[in-house]
Amino acid sequence: MKLLVPVKRVVDYNVKVRVKADGTGVETANVKMSMNPFDEIGVEEAVRLKEKGIATEIVAVSCGPAACAEQIRTALAMGADRGILVEHDGVLEPLAVAKLLKALVAKESPDLVILGKQAIDDDMNATGQMLAALLGWAQGTYASKIEPADGGLLVTREVDGGLERIQLKLPAIVTTDLRLNEPRYASLPNIMKARKKPIENVKPADLGVDVTPRLTVLKVAEPPTRQAGKKVASVAELVDKLRNEAKVI
Ligand code: AMP
Repeated sequence: MKLLVPVKRVVDYNVKVRVKADGTGVETANVKMSMNPFDEIGVEEAVRLKEKGIATEIVAVSCGPAACAEQIRTALAMGADRGILVEHDGVLEPLAVAKLLKALVAKESPDLVILGKQAIDDDMNATGQMLAALLGWAQGTYASKIEPADGGLLVTREVDGGLERIQLKLPAIVTTDLRLNEPRYASLPNIMKARKKPIENVKPADLGVDVTPRLTVLKVAEPPTRQAGKKVASVAELVDKLRNEAKVI
C-alpha cells in the first residue's frame, strides 16, 4: 500500500499568535514554525503502517514557500521515504491545496492519503473532505483508530455522540484526530539519514493547477477580551440579572 501524507507548515502550537498591526493577517515573521500537529499524527500512523508491513512507501508532501522543506525533512526523519514540495509563495486556500493533492494523486497513485483533520492556523477542517470529493474516494474523517480489514480499512471515527466505525474501500482518504497515536520524536541518526532522502520540487503550474484565491480576507482581529464574571447572592438576583441586564430570558 502506497501512502501520501500531506504536512502543512504552521505557526508552532506553543506560540501565542499575534494579529498584524494592519489587520491583514497573523504575524509570522520571526515566529517559530512547525509541522501541523495533526499531520505529525498522520506521519506517525503512516510509519506504523509501514512498520507493520502494510504500507510499502510513504511520500510526504507540503504546499507553500520553500521553507516547507523543513517540515518535509521532519516527516522524512520520522520515517517517510521521500518528499514532494509544491512551491508557492502566497495564500493557498484548502480548495487550492485539495486540487494540488488531486494532481499529485494522479501522478503518484497512492492507495491512501492521510491528512490532518485540520490545520491549527486557519482551523479550516476542509482539505481532506474536498480532496475526497474531487477524487470521488471514500473518506474516514476524525480517525482515532485505523485497522486493515477486508482488503480495505476499518476506521474508528470520533463523532459528537461517541465513536463510529466505518469500513472503507481503497483508495481512500483518512483524516487524523488527536487520539489516533502519539507521534515519535525523530532520533538524531534518523535526522541525519533524512538529509539524504530525496525531495522533489514542483510548482502549481507544473501540476496544471490554478491556485488563485477565491476568498477575500476583509480583516483579521483579536477576539474581544473576556469580561470578568460577577457573583450573585441568590437565585432571585440571578434571574433578575438574566432578565434585566443580559436580557436573555
Ligand atoms: P485544513 O483543511 O486547512 O484545516 O487542513 C487539513 C489538512 O490538510 C492538514 O492537516 C494537512 O494534512 C492538509 N493541508 C492543508 N494545507 C496544506 C498545505 N499547504 N500543505 C500540505 N498539506 C496541507
